[in-house]
Amino acid sequence: MAYTNLVETQRKYFRTGETKPIKFRKQQLIRLKKFIEENREALSEAVWKDLRRRAETTEAMEIGMTIQEIDYFLSNLDDWAKPTSVEKTFATALDKPVIEKDPKGVVLIVAPWNYPISMVLLPMIPALAAGNTVVVKPSELSENTAATFEKLLAKYFDPKYLAVVNGGIPETTDLLKERFDHILYTGCPPVAKIIMTAAAKHLTPVTLELGGKCPVVVEDDADIDITAKRITWGKWLNCGQTCLAPDYVLVNSTVKPKLVAAIRKYIGEFYGSDVKASKDYTRIINQRHFDRISKILDETKGATLIGGDRDRADLFIPPTVLDVEKSDPFMHDEIFGPVLPIITVKSISESLEFINEGEKPLAAYIFTRNESKVKRLVRETSSGGVTVNDVLMHITVDTLPFGGVGVSGMGRYRGKFGFDTFTHEKSVLHRGFFGESLLSSRYPPLTPQKLEQL
Ligand code: NAD
Repeated sequence: MAYTNLVETQRKYFRTGETKPIKFRKQQLIRLKKFIEENREALSEAVWKDLRRRAETTEAMEIGMTIQEIDYFLSNLDDWAKPTSVEKTFATALDKPVIEKDPKGVVLIVAPWNYPISMVLLPMIPALAAGNTVVVKPSELSENTAATFEKLLAKYFDPKYLAVVNGGIPETTDLLKERFDHILYTGCPPVAKIIMTAAAKHLTPVTLELGGKCPVVVEDDADIDITAKRITWGKWLNCGQTCLAPDYVLVNSTVKPKLVAAIRKYIGEFYGSDVKASKDYTRIINQRHFDRISKILDETKGATLIGGDRDRADLFIPPTVLDVEKSDPFMHDEIFGPVLPIITVKSISESLEFINEGEKPLAAYIFTRNESKVKRLVRETSSGGVTVNDVLMHITVDTLPFGGVGVSGMGRYRGKFGFDTFTHEKSVLHRGFFGESLLSSRYPPLTPQKLEQL
């Protein structure tokens, strides 16, 4: 099979034990950081070609974040990787129980196109830090970034340790025939099922980082101007193609017009009167996705509150805000584009009920000054994570786990959670040759006296 050699070469290399010492792992993280720093322009330029996202945004949103993550790992790796002693039971009072942190082996990372640098590197950092070898498959949709990774990463790493495989469905299908020790997939639920089915054949554990419809609850006690500013930033960043982007808003009829007016104001402030000419406004990844969103725009029954002409040749869809009913076509699947449906509700209870009727989202957001409403959202709904009075920001906190729940994913990574994901926590009990008298009751024949002592 096409990738048997690659995976076997990595497995053989892993078995030499070279990837295990902490010193080696740190050297590789430093090398990865060097790769990013020396190629940051080439990488941002590739993202510009793929998504028409300006280099400064890529620098801030993707490159800066990955460098920070490497630094965080370098500062904490010694601590995370060392064996931890645990409390003893009465029966093991003379022994030493410890948890050893074993690397899993050969890891496969399958990445999406929307943040084509960080979605490759952020899972790679914990996988390497945990002492594994890595095969990474960037998305074929962000073809320029994928080609840049393939060409440049090979100058820094031997493929027996870290290899890039480029290609689309046929190549990924072939890769998935191989036996990996862990697979981390980022993308959409239908493909996640294919990944999990393939992994099941080898009993390979998976981490699935997926998406979903992230709701935003806006309550009337919120600062509506700031709320609108933050929603506008998070929604139209990367043209709505962000897994954590606000998918839709739930708001009451009194606040709705104020919120929409403020969103209109901030779209103007951020992107100017001619959004198409703004350097800060990204494009849709390709015509297939343009057509997918366009079709729903044609089918929606909602009133267009903000929006305008689309341009297929330019892959441009302007920031669009719709006033919709709960049954609108935009409310079926994750939008993953620059359209924000607004749904009118009467109360926080109605908002929470609506969220609970759908699949569990990757994130839920609430804007309010009322702590009890915050508590209700946190306690009464299930989502991968929550940011209160802003959007997206919980992903920036290294000390929080990042991942979904239900259809929005399984498992987590970032910081120590990422290290743990790619590590097998091995239970080891150290025992000496003393203390036989304490054990005598376990040995056959089990006499009534021994049974009493058990
Ligand atoms: P995509 O189409 O690029 O697919 C992702 C990867 O899956 C690619 O590498 C692709 O080659 C592979 N793939 C696609 N079809 C396949 C198949 N039939 N068999 C095997 N492999 C296949 O990306 P996408 O799925 O459109 O990504 C968008 C989704 O990713 C959204 O739902 C978004 O919310 C989610 N996402 C989640 C996160 C997160 O961290 N949770 C981050 C970014 C994106």
